[in-house]
Amino acid sequence: MARYTGAVCRQCRREGEKLFLKGDKCYSDKCAFIKRNSAPGQHGQARKKTSEYGLQLRAKQKAKRYYGVLESQFAKYYEMAERKTGKTGEILLRILESRLDNVVYRAGFGMSRAEARQLVLHRHFTVNGQVVNIPSCLVKAGDKIEVRTRDCDKIKESIEKNSGRPTPVWMSRGDEGFSCVIDHLPERSEIDFNVEEHLIVELYSK
Ligand code: SF4
Repeated sequence: MARYTGAVCRQCRREGEKLFLKGDKCYSDKCAFIKRNSAPGQHGQARKKTSEYGLQLRAKQKAKRYYGVLESQFAKYYEMAERKTGKTGEILLRILESRLDNVVYRAGFGMSRAEARQLVLHRHFTVNGQVVNIPSCLVKAGDKIEVRTRDCDKIKESIEKNSGRPTPVWMSRGDEGFSCVIDHLPERSEIDFNVEEHLIVELYSK
């Protein structure tokens, strides 16, 4: 299963904002973006005028990086969104939010989406009672995601650390934080991701 293996913090610097890709470190003053928030590379600090295409590309790259999805998978999600009725950009974000690794992260079982992905691969969760080890599995309204291995230190630690973090309104947590139920798939207003999704649609519509 392919995944990005380059320098993670570089991605935040490239997008010009914190994407919270590294868990704990993102909330500390060790965050690379706090130390140096210019784009990476020799010409990172140079002022550049961004073209319309540049803006569209950046929006797509930001979404890919935020959700930890590679190019081909992202394009498949876009095609999927395009086939549904409604605003393609919003549907695309809803699909990305419904990935199991994202849900595990949003529910507070992991400190980052990358960690959540790893935990899913290692069979720590069930969806409606069945073990699922596919991070890209898409959940739907009514699904119950449960921690199978309650003695896993990493999960216990994440649940504890995330206990102060608000639960997204589209899910409810239960079993002392060891399970969550998807009440409904999120509307755009319920997704706290700062991206102009219409730019992604414009890019793919060319
Ligand atoms: Fe981004 Fe987190 Fe790295 Fe900061 S620590 S630059 S938020 S990935």
